[in-house]
Amino acid sequence: MKSVCILGSTGSIGVSTLDVVRLNASNYKVVALTANKNIQLLKQQCVEFNPMFVVIPDADLAEQFERSIQQSELDGISVLSGKESLEFVCQLEIVDVVVAAIVGAAGLLPTLAAAKAGKVLLLANKEALVISGDLLMSAVSENGATLLPLDSEHNALFQCMPAAYRTGEPVKGLRRLILTASGGPFLHASDEELSRVTVEQACAHPNWSMGQKISIDSATMMNKGLEVIEASYLFSVDADDIDVLVHPQSIIHSMVDYIDGSVLAQLGNPDMRTPIAHALSWPDRQPSGVSALDFILHKQLSFEPPSIDKFPCLRLAYEALKAKGTATTILNAANEVAVDNFLNNKISFTDIPKLIEKTMERSEVKTVDSIATVLLADAEAREQATTCIGLIK
Ligand code: NAD
Ligand code: MG
Repeated sequence: MKSVCILGSTGSIGVSTLDVVRLNASNYKVVALTANKNIQLLKQQCVEFNPMFVVIPDADLAEQFERSIQQSELDGISVLSGKESLEFVCQLEIVDVVVAAIVGAAGLLPTLAAAKAGKVLLLANKEALVISGDLLMSAVSENGATLLPLDSEHNALFQCMPAAYRTGEPVKGLRRLILTASGGPFLHASDEELSRVTVEQACAHPNWSMGQKISIDSATMMNKGLEVIEASYLFSVDADDIDVLVHPQSIIHSMVDYIDGSVLAQLGNPDMRTPIAHALSWPDRQPSGVSALDFILHKQLSFEPPSIDKFPCLRLAYEALKAKGTATTILNAANEVAVDNFLNNKISFTDIPKLIEKTMERSEVKTVDSIATVLLADAEAREQATTCIGLIK
C-alpha cells in the first residue's frame, strides 16, 4: 500500500489521479490533498478518500473549510493553511508518493521539498522544472528521490528508455528525442485569425481536456516549448537533440530515436490517466480506466513540422534553453504573466509571444546557484513583463 500526497487535487491532473486511485483502491492510502480555491470539490474528495491532512494556502478559505467540516464525519482531518504547509505535507514521514499537480510557479517550493525529502515524485507541474532546472534534478539525485514524469510526452519517452533507466541520467545510444505535439486548436489558422482568437477558442483543445493555463500554453505552443526544456533536464539531452513533430491525432505520445536506427514510440488514447497509472504503479502496471487503442478507428496517423513563424513561443523556449542559467526562469515567468493578462482580456493572443520576447530582451540572465537566485529572477521577470505590457502595443 502506497501513501499518497496530491498537490493540486482539485485540478484536472489531481482529479484524474484520484480516478486512478479509486480504480485501484486497495493499493493506495490518500494521506494529504491540497487545493487553492475549490473547497467544495476538496470536501467531496475528503468524504471519499478520508485524508489525514488538507492544505488550503489561503487562511480565510481554510477557516471556512474547517467550519464546514466541524461535527461531521470529516472532523478528524487536520486543515492547514499557508504556503509552507504545502511543503510540510510533502515531507511527512508517512508519505511515499507526492503527485506534483499544482499549476505554475506556485508548485515550485513544494515540489522541491518532496525531492529533498527523497519521495517518489510524480511530476505534472512542468513549470517547477523549467524554473529551477538543475536545482530540482540535483535535489532528486542527492536525496535519493525517484522522479517519474506524468506529462504524457515525457512519460512516453521514459517508457521508451532502457528498463533500468533513471531520469537525470544520460541515455546511452540516443540519437534524438522526438516530442509529438497536437498543434493545438489553431494549427492551420491564418495570422489574421490568430490575432482575433478569444479566450474560449484558445481553451478548447481538440484532443485533451485540461486546466485553463496549459490549454492556452497548448494553443500558443509554449506548452511544447516548456516540454522541450522539461525533456532536456529530465533526460540530460541538449536542445539540438530534441525535435518537435506535429501529430494532430495525439496517439503517439512521443518517440526515442536510437543510433542503430530503431525508433521506439509509446501509443495510446489521449487520456492522462494512462501516464498517471503508469507512474503510480511503476515498475508494475495497473488499470487506468482508459479504453484500449482501436487501430481501425485511427486509420491515419499524420505528421508535419511545427511552424516556428506562426508559433514564436516554441523558438523562444529553445533560445532560453540554449542560453541556460535563469533564462528559462524568465521565459516561464513572462509566459505566466502573459497568459494571465490574455485570460483577463488585457492583451491579445498574438501579444503573448511579443510580451515574452520583450521581457527576455530586457532581463539579465544569471547563473543558477541557489533557489534564492531562481526566486529573485522569477520575481524580477514578472515585474519586467508587467512593465513591458505597455511597450508591445
Ligand atoms: P488545473 O488548473 O486544472 O489545476 C491546478 C491545481 O493547482 C488546482 O488543484 C488548484 O487548486 C491548484 N493551484 C492553483 N494555483 C495554486 C496556488 N497558487 N497555490 C496552490 N495551489 C494552486 O491545472 P492542470 O491542468 O491540472 O495542470 C496542473 C499541472 O500539470 C500544470 O503544471 C500543467 O502544465 C501540468 N500538466 C497538465 C496536463 C493536463 O492534462 N491537465 C497534462 C500535462 C501536464
Ligand atoms: Mg504534455
